[in-house]
Amino acid sequence: MDGRQWVGMSPLLPALRIGHGYDLHRLEPAPPAGNGRPFVLAGVRFDHPTGPVGHSDGDAVYHAVVDALLGALGLPDIGQAFPDTDAKWDGQDSAYFMEQARAAVAAHGHGIVNIDVTVICERPKLSPAKTRMIANIADLLGIGRERVNLKGKTHEKVDAVGEGRAVEVHVVALLAALGG
Ligand code: MG
Repeated sequence: MDGRQWVGMSPLLPALRIGHGYDLHRLEPAPPAGNGRPFVLAGVRFDHPTGPVGHSDGDAVYHAVVDALLGALGLPDIGQAFPDTDAKWDGQDSAYFMEQARAAVAAHGHGIVNIDVTVICERPKLSPAKTRMIANIADLLGIGRERVNLKGKTHEKVDAVGEGRAVEVHVVALLAALGG
């Protein structure tokens, strides 16, 4: 048996597409001590002594969600679509990138089945903000909140993330072709 047997079966399979998104931002104090921006994750601002270094607003959750959606569609990633060499994106509210990704999913005739987000950082604690973070993601993508899951983990104090010098995000998104 080889893979060719499956070709004839493909019309019977649901038209699903999966995408993975990843992002990491270095965390630094605000200027002049460093280049950290205000610490924003999934549109929620955290009161924290350091924040992400980044060309846009540095929202690592939105960036990873966008990359998961673009990846599922087989499109170029967020860095190619919105290059950091373009001054236009300096300080950009990343909600804009989410809106663009939502439009791309719709333009390709797909809907979002679900999104699973894992945020890894030592501090701040995400739990008090989780509900708001999920609501922001769902609202920007025009989907129900039950379709978005978000988990916070630490990096057990080891390596850059565990030492509080970076925040890391992984996202998996599943899309389905809309019928009709
Ligand atoms: Mg980023």
